Amino acid sequence: MSETAVKTGHPKGLWVLFGTEMWERFNFYGMRAILTLFLVNSLMMKEEEASLIYGGFLGLCYLTPMLGGFISDRFFGNRNCIMLGGLMMAIGQLLLFFSASVFGDNIGLATTLMWSALGIIIFGNGFFKPNISSMVGSLYPKQEKSKLDTAFTIFYMGINLGAFLGQLICPIVGDVKNEAGIRDIHAFKWGFLAASTAMLIGTAVFYMLKNKYVVTPEGRPLGGLPKHNVSEDYEEGESQKAVFSQKALIGAVVAFFALGLVFHYGFGQNFIYSLIYSSGLTLAGLIVSDSSLTKVERDRIFVIYIVAFFIIFFWAAFEQAGSSLTFIADNQCDRNFFGYNMPPSMVQIFNGLFVVAFAVPFSMLWDYLRSKDREPISPAKQAVGLGLIALSYFIIAYNVKDLGNSGLLAIKWLILLYLIQTCAELCLSPIGLSLVGKLSPKRFSSLLYGVFFLSNASGYALAGTLGSILPATGDKFVKAKELGIDLQSILDKKVTPTAEQLKVLADNQISDHYPVFAGFEIHNLFEFFMVFVILTGLAAVILMALTPKLKKMMHGVR
Ligand code: GLN
Repeated sequence: MSETAVKTGHPKGLWVLFGTEMWERFNFYGMRAILTLFLVNSLMMKEEEASLIYGGFLGLCYLTPMLGGFISDRFFGNRNCIMLGGLMMAIGQLLLFFSASVFGDNIGLATTLMWSALGIIIFGNGFFKPNISSMVGSLYPKQEKSKLDTAFTIFYMGINLGAFLGQLICPIVGDVKNEAGIRDIHAFKWGFLAASTAMLIGTAVFYMLKNKYVVTPEGRPLGGLPKHNVSEDYEEGESQKAVFSQKALIGAVVAFFALGLVFHYGFGQNFIYSLIYSSGLTLAGLIVSDSSLTKVERDRIFVIYIVAFFIIFFWAAFEQAGSSLTFIADNQCDRNFFGYNMPPSMVQIFNGLFVVAFAVPFSMLWDYLRSKDREPISPAKQAVGLGLIALSYFIIAYNVKDLGNSGLLAIKWLILLYLIQTCAELCLSPIGLSLVGKLSPKRFSSLLYGVFFLSNASGYALAGTLGSILPATGDKFVKAKELGIDLQSILDKKVTPTAEQLKVLADNQISDHYPVFAGFEIHNLFEFFMVFVILTGLAAVILMALTPKLKKMMHGVR
């Protein structure tokens, strides 16, 4: 056994990457927990606007990994990109800290700082995320690739341990309410500072330990500058890089702009959402236009595309965690958890907690089913994941049905929702990552990961759009009543509001009309949740119905 291996047979470098990623996800999810509440309560945005920003931000975080992967492969190498990305994210969080420190005196400056911060974090994440994930794979020599599934399960636990800690600490220090339930809108800054500190710790851990542990079994450093790579760092045939003809590239550029215009003008999507959707489709088209692909390769790539399309609906529903579900936890929920009044942003914590608890049992379940020759193929597992998420929203929809404007949703229902959604995530997310690896022709592997991440990005953008149709929660009706306005009658168009009433509502971030989705008015939380039940439920049924066909198209891969 080499010096770098521990008793479990996993290289020590895995634990360095585990620790680095843990701190990074602490920073990312800790900030995600409080971001929308900060936008609404301190920067005085409407919930609708905050949800759209949240979706766009997350979407862009999954668009930039394409760029980060490209720059790493050609110029800087994995290690430098991880450190650069880590530092950028720490700086971004620090800017959020400043934004949350100055908003009381200068909301214009605070808003500018917030935009700059999100921009820097988006690029930082783009440098960090693809590089750390690909280093996990490169720790294992060819003959040990069978350990990769376990390695990724361990790594996924690191991700979620970090998410758990971030969603614990950042809300404790940043999402603070007094006894009377009044929020301290100046506390958010401490949450952002905690996130920044976590990212600095992660970067420092990686910087100090990388040379000793993040190495090949022979002890050569991994992920250095690309020009120092030696041929043994590649697997056989891997040097065969994708080369596109000039004609294909020009076609792609034209398609990219044309699709962008269609999404923007045809479907009314904002600039960022149009960018995300058109990048995904263009890249997908570019890859299949390559004439060197064989029939089997092409079939397998189409399976990736079909699955990628369906998981858009998964992430769109799943990522309500940081927007609409947090607003509901904040405004219409009894958050008493065994005597502890949980900060609303902390309720998301159950996802990370349940992943840490269930990641290993789930991988044991798949092993068991495999040993009995009854393991479902990957797309079938993903259809189950979509079905579970539909179930989670169905349960919550029925629990909010009779709440009216004054009833509170018990926190146990949100915990149950996160429990079911975590099982769904474990059926879908790690499975998807390894499916792309298994189905991709080697020369297109990183690009196909790019397409896959872009489908995550599209899901997040859709999450923003769907989060923005959250109808008014009970607190808005109470607030309007205090201001002498009968919101219900205005929403139901029974009375026409005066110009003054409209201004008062706008000043208090309350909408004067029901949100609309696909031509339907969303009148209450029940209808809101049913949107997710229908979208993910339909996606689950269609994907399941397609599995026999997909199985054929996978040509032996499961
Ligand atoms: N929660 C996981 C992570 O942060 C997966 C997110 C995703 O793939 N969209 O890495």
